[in-house]
Amino acid sequence: MAAARLRKTLRDSDTMARVGGDEFVAVLPGTFSDAQIKLVTGRLLAALHSPFEIDNHTIYVSASIGISIYPLHAEDEVRLVALADAAMGRAKETGKSRYVVYSARQSGPPEHDISLEAAMFQAVREGEFLLYYQPIVDAPTRQIQGFETLMRWKHPTLGMVPPVRFIPIAETNGLINLLGAWALKAACVQLKQFEEVAKRELYISVNISPRQFRNDKFLDVLDDALAFSSLSGERLVLEITEGTLMIDPVHAETILAKMAERRARIAIDDFGTGYSSLAYLKRFPISVLKIDRAFIKDLPDSQKDGAICNAVLDLAKHLDLSVVAEGVETEEQMRFLDGRGCQYVQGYLTGKPMPAHVAMAALKENLYAELLPSELRAGIL
Ligand code: C2E
Ligand code: MG
Ligand code: MG
Repeated sequence: MAAARLRKTLRDSDTMARVGGDEFVAVLPGTFSDAQIKLVTGRLLAALHSPFEIDNHTIYVSASIGISIYPLHAEDEVRLVALADAAMGRAKETGKSRYVVYSARQSGPPEHDISLEAAMFQAVREGEFLLYYQPIVDAPTRQIQGFETLMRWKHPTLGMVPPVRFIPIAETNGLINLLGAWALKAACVQLKQFEEVAKRELYISVNISPRQFRNDKFLDVLDDALAFSSLSGERLVLEITEGTLMIDPVHAETILAKMAERRARIAIDDFGTGYSSLAYLKRFPISVLKIDRAFIKDLPDSQKDGAICNAVLDLAKHLDLSVVAEGVETEEQMRFLDGRGCQYVQGYLTGKPMPAHVAMAALKENLYAELLPSELRAGIL
């Protein structure tokens, strides 16, 4: 009904498509002046203004509109839609039921990254984004239990662009929703293949950025990934940071409950580096803490880091949470953590982030168990 009303307000030469649950994209050739935009958006908003009568219920809806202009803001459709999406996000944040025209000034990345940002849209079309997988192993046996999915961008001339450079840009311009949805779906499918090779159950961990987590459609994206891969929710761990939870705890509570309904587990990434409000460990259904590399890298020499790791492990034990130590690079760190009862580790020592085919070879050869000194292995295997 909403679609029919919206369509009536547009010209025959305009194009309108429903692109998600409650999301529409309209392409309006020749509409770019302020006056034209004001007129059309006014009509669109008004079209939804009168209530809908459905089964004796009166339903009121409103809309937020984001606008990008060709060729002022971008020259290709992927980027135009992403910029309109960013503008729509701002319309929602600033009061809903209104329209916002994209402006690079307000939401753009720092000046020096503009060319990188432009290249990212190109990269999406060219398929330059890839996923690497880093093993998460059981500390005592070094058997692979799961993998963390880490995004990579292989630029034809710049080479591998690290996620710390491109994720923040994707976060500002909204591209993260597209990339994140792809990563989640691809990772779920990939895990199926990993399990086939390993002939046992594994799990897959996927990073969810704050903007993805806040996105209205995140649960649809999650359901789609699980349905498409026919992966059971309990095989999936979603990594979020403390910051993501704290932006809007009420919203977080709702979303986390819905994730728990799907039996997906929640991990707190970079634990200890964010707000570190312990109250949220009580409030939210969290299953895993990932101790940040910052607390691991100077182990076992640093007494302070050792104390922090001990405290986290103790806390986790009493709250019945699993712990993954991140960034384990040396045998000494491994020994320290294993000795303190840290069950899972992830780091260069037991496997760098690697392409899927390498990860499968690692699973096949049970490579990490074989790296163990033989006297230890004799005791375990
Ligand atoms: P993260 O989720 O905390 O991922 C762990 C980072 O530590 C990865 O960096 C990994 O390569 C690195 N690492 C693992 N073991 C070691 C080690 O032994 N030594 C050292 N020095 N580093 C180690 P990476 O891949 O560069 O990713 C950086 C961050 O980018 C991630 O931190 C995550 O926050 C973000 N990121 C990566 N992929 C995605 C994604 O698909 N979606 C989102 N939203 N964020 C992502
Ligand atoms: Mg992570
Ligand atoms: Mg981390």
